[in-house]
Amino acid sequence: MDYFHEHTCFVCHQPIHGGFCRDEWGNVVHYGCRTPLCCNCFRYTDSEALHLSDGRVICKTCLPSVVRNQWQINWVRPRVLSLLAKYGINDLPAHIYIRIDNSASINGLMNQSGIDPKAVGLASTQMRMSSSNRIEQRHRVNILNGLHRAFFAGVLAHELMHIWQRSHFIELDDLHNEGFCELACYLMLRQINNPIARLHMSRMEYSPDPVYGNGFRAVRAVYNSLPRPSLPDTMRWLLANLLYPTMHGATLQAALRNNHKL
Ligand SMILES: [Zn+2]
Ligand SMILES: [Zn+2]
Ligand SMILES: [Zn+2]
Repeated sequence: MDYFHEHTCFVCHQPIHGGFCRDEWGNVVHYGCRTPLCCNCFRYTDSEALHLSDGRVICKTCLPSVVRNQWQINWVRPRVLSLLAKYGINDLPAHIYIRIDNSASINGLMNQSGIDPKAVGLASTQMRMSSSNRIEQRHRVNILNGLHRAFFAGVLAHELMHIWQRSHFIELDDLHNEGFCELACYLMLRQINNPIARLHMSRMEYSPDPVYGNGFRAVRAVYNSLPRPSLPDTMRWLLANLLYPTMHGATLQAALRNNHKL
């Protein structure tokens, strides 16, 4: 019986004597064999991994589950909507265009609007006053290419919550705005509950990000404190209790009317 378990390198498949590195899945590699981690599951990648032009790498295990095209978006979308409905979100705008983009396009869009470049998705809304003096909103979600469908579903839930807030003319401070969206992402991952979903949940729980991480934990604490937790009731609590100014429908409509004299 060998008391010193001999490790085999995940990348070169040779035995490891001495120091090694381990990924979140317990795969060990020689120091010299370290490869980029998969952007979805954070495993060491091998020669069968796909290298994207932006430097991200997708491992062979994640590759078949990546959301790549409109057909796959159409498979994920109703599942995300029905899970969000379980948490009380059943009044999202009917027409939301969802598309997949590479990092260059997403970053281009983000730089225009000054949004956090760490985000993997983007929700944009165009507002205009109709001829009958009503506000019309057009919503679009752009999601980064190469995402595993569990991660994609979480990102989509996050972005849809930005649209839901806008459709109700809710404008919170960044911490609670992103925190609320991250809560929806977390609840989505908790329902999916596969290894990728659980990995991303634990990263959210321990995220040091001052906006996304702290915001998520603050809003989740509100959600957990409610007698019958739901996303709309969490938002009601935030709107009733936050010290930060919020912009409600009437204020925004007045602002828009002043800027858009038709
Ligand atoms: Zn090795
Ligand atoms: Zn992977
Ligand atoms: Zn966001």
